[in-house]
Amino acid sequence: MSNWVQGKVVENNHWTDLLYSLRIEADIDPFVAGQYGRLGLEIDDQIVGRPYSFVNPPHENIYEFYSITVSEGPLSPKLSSLREGDKVWIDKRVNGFFTLNEVPDGKDMWMLATGTGLGPFLSILNSDEVWKRFENIVLVHAVRFAQELTYQDTMQKISEKYKSRFQIIPFVSREETDFASDGRIPAAIKTEKLEDKAGLAFNPETSQVMMCGNPDMLIETRNALKEKGLMKNLRRSPGHITSESYW
Ligand SMILES: Cc1cc2nc3c(=O)[nH]c(=O)nc-3n(C[C@H](O)[C@H](O)[C@H](O)COP(=O)(O)OP(=O)(O)OC[C@H]3O[C@@H](n4cnc5c(N)ncnc54)[C@H](O)[C@@H]3O)c2cc1C
Repeated sequence: MSNWVQGKVVENNHWTDLLYSLRIEADIDPFVAGQYGRLGLEIDDQIVGRPYSFVNPPHENIYEFYSITVSEGPLSPKLSSLREGDKVWIDKRVNGFFTLNEVPDGKDMWMLATGTGLGPFLSILNSDEVWKRFENIVLVHAVRFAQELTYQDTMQKISEKYKSRFQIIPFVSREETDFASDGRIPAAIKTEKLEDKAGLAFNPETSQVMMCGNPDMLIETRNALKEKGLMKNLRRSPGHITSESYW
């Protein structure tokens, strides 16, 4: 059951025609980096709500959500047209297990994101814990077009702070660029292109992988990593791969 409270939009930043980030003021429960909240709007006299990962770190109290407009979807096009000052419903309670307390220790943390699946990683990267627990962090962001490589300033700031401990590897699948890898993450794991790029190996002794976004990417990546000895991370059987599927 949702416990809707009213929030106020303080900004709706449109990155592209389809991608936008909402910043919302609201009185909701504290969250842990990697968790999600629920946003809702009244449509035909009913609140239609969907989960959205927090992008901001927990110590900031303006809540940020990074979303894509799914043209045939009931909620995302309407959220996209919200403006500063508009009201939006937000669930007071937060949820989710895509958090570091669910992840075993390791040396190298791989964060694999497709599209808006980048969001929870920014929250985690802007919190201290991941930097205390892991030596190296590789953030892989896979998109279709280069203009979808958003949040460059945020990543730049993290890079400046953590220097060689942090690497960003962009993938662009539907156009050629001179800076991003082409193709998709699972294929680059199979061919070892991703490990070569990062200068790190997937290794069950040292690697933890968190991945978020498109469910097909999650399944194919899990299969590719299994070949390298990395297993799904479950509470009853700790492993190496922790995932969050967006649909
Ligand atoms: C735990 C969790 C956290 C989520 N966090 C986010 C988030 O931070 N940002 C975000 O954009 N979405 C996120 N989603 C998806 C989000 O809840 C909505 O499904 C999405 O915004 C579309 O809403 P809709 O009502 O318009 O269409 P829906 O009826 O919800 O979805 C219609 C279809 O749109 C496609 N779709 C849904 N989400 C995406 C997406 N992110 N990228 C591409 N295609 C998609 C799928 O094919 C889906 O079947 C999350 C989902 C879950 C389960």
